[in-house]
Amino acid sequence: MSNAPPPDPEKLNAARQRLLVEIAATAAETANWTGRQAFSDAVMAAMARVPRHEFVDPDSRAAAYANRPQPIGHGQTISQPYIVALMSDLLDLVPTDRVLEIGTGCGYQAAVLAELAGHVYSIETLEKLATPARARLKRLGYDNVTVQAGDGFLGWPEEAPFDAIIVTAAPERIPDALVDQLANGGRLVIPIGPQHETQFLVRLIKDQDGAVTRQDMLPVAFVPMVRKGA
Ligand code: SAH
Repeated sequence: MSNAPPPDPEKLNAARQRLLVEIAATAAETANWTGRQAFSDAVMAAMARVPRHEFVDPDSRAAAYANRPQPIGHGQTISQPYIVALMSDLLDLVPTDRVLEIGTGCGYQAAVLAELAGHVYSIETLEKLATPARARLKRLGYDNVTVQAGDGFLGWPEEAPFDAIIVTAAPERIPDALVDQLANGGRLVIPIGPQHETQFLVRLIKDQDGAVTRQDMLPVAFVPMVRKGA
């Protein structure tokens, strides 16, 4: 059990509002990398709605709205809020979209996506993270998220194709299964690169004829995407 005092809702709200200002400022600063001066109103509203403090360790709640990554246990981290917002924005979601996420972690990114899309399918390789994330998302009312413990390298063929795919752990190259499971007109956002070198955030677009184009965005640092059981 944690000894942390229960969070003061007003303080959390104020911290969340400050975070939105910081995300907007960082978006403007990185526009030359990302091509986006500002994120959509829908993405900013989703960032304002999702209670990030519910996803971190109770002892880290005070820092939940700092614009930096946080540990979520088992050697994994929840991304910096700016990166969550950027990746969500780059997916260009509409409310009917079906989204695949690889790397559920604590479920925070899945919750942000659930605010923006129709249904989110999320795969997490560590059962010890998948099980609590599923319960947390359910408790917070995110009925449009399905979490499965499994190997993200394989995607989720039974539910494919997806309008958007987001990968929140870094493989060395883009897994073929994920490109195959992207619908025509779909968007894939993924960090690519070796684990101890700079990775790049990459965006793939599949056009209506199935042709794929790649855009390299900006340097990022993600935990490695690993084979299940590795
Ligand atoms: N999106 C998460 C952060 C994820 S950290 C959140 O909002 O909390 C990256 C996650 O990817 C880790 O939990 C890690 O266990 C998971 N992961 C790594 N390799 C994977 C794979 N092959 N398939 C599915 N998940 C994987």
